[in-house]
Amino acid sequence: MEINENVKNVQASISQTLSQCGRSDSVKLVAVTKYVGEVEMEALYNSGVKSFGENRVEKFLKSKSILGKPDVEWHFIGALQSKKVKKVVNEIDFLHSLDRLSLAIEIEKYSSRVLNCFVQVKTSNEDSKSGISPSRVLEFIKELEGFKKIKVVGLMNITTNTSDMNKHIEEFRLLSLIRDEVQRLNLDYAPCRELSMGMSADYKIAIQNGATVVRVGSILY
Ligand SMILES: *Cc1c(COP(=O)(O)O)cnc(C)c1O
Repeated sequence: MEINENVKNVQASISQTLSQCGRSDSVKLVAVTKYVGEVEMEALYNSGVKSFGENRVEKFLKSKSILGKPDVEWHFIGALQSKKVKKVVNEIDFLHSLDRLSLAIEIEKYSSRVLNCFVQVKTSNEDSKSGISPSRVLEFIKELEGFKKIKVVGLMNITTNTSDMNKHIEEFRLLSLIRDEVQRLNLDYAPCRELSMGMSADYKIAIQNGATVVRVGSILY
């Protein structure tokens, strides 16, 4: 089992990237477990990973029940259908895919506490990606005023599926600029300090451009 080694390598490269760009803060590693089962999840946990991410409701519920550790934080990172909100909203610690008002309304209806949410922003031009368009993010976040169950902790994106890293950099920078604009609104319910960006192929570049949370899957296995 190389998982322990892979986790160590990713953690070391996160630290190295942070220090190379003169950052004194930290980055949270969310291990995406959609590809794996119990054995790998246990190995991740035993390697010190405490933040786990899933992108589908059924797999998430299964993963949470089989890992069954109290000190684990669960991140829901995939598109969430409104009708499935009630199944997951009280089981997760972070939602990375708040992308429409109708979803906020369902969360408000079913959540028993304030949910930490990332607003997903569509920084790519691909039709397949969801998210609020960059020009509408401020307006959308203002619309969330009065939702007692929603706290906007940050923004999230999924970059264009291309090996051209300049495109990824452009999209990370755009997300970071929008985050700064949201912060300037000074909203109690939207401190928006975090940037959830970067996956296996580009997490180092994401950190160089301000990521505070990286969602990493395939390179761990
Ligand atoms: C699968 C997935 C990831 C992880 O992708 P890898 O390339 O395997 O690291 C990150 N974010 C989201 C939203 C995902 O669905």
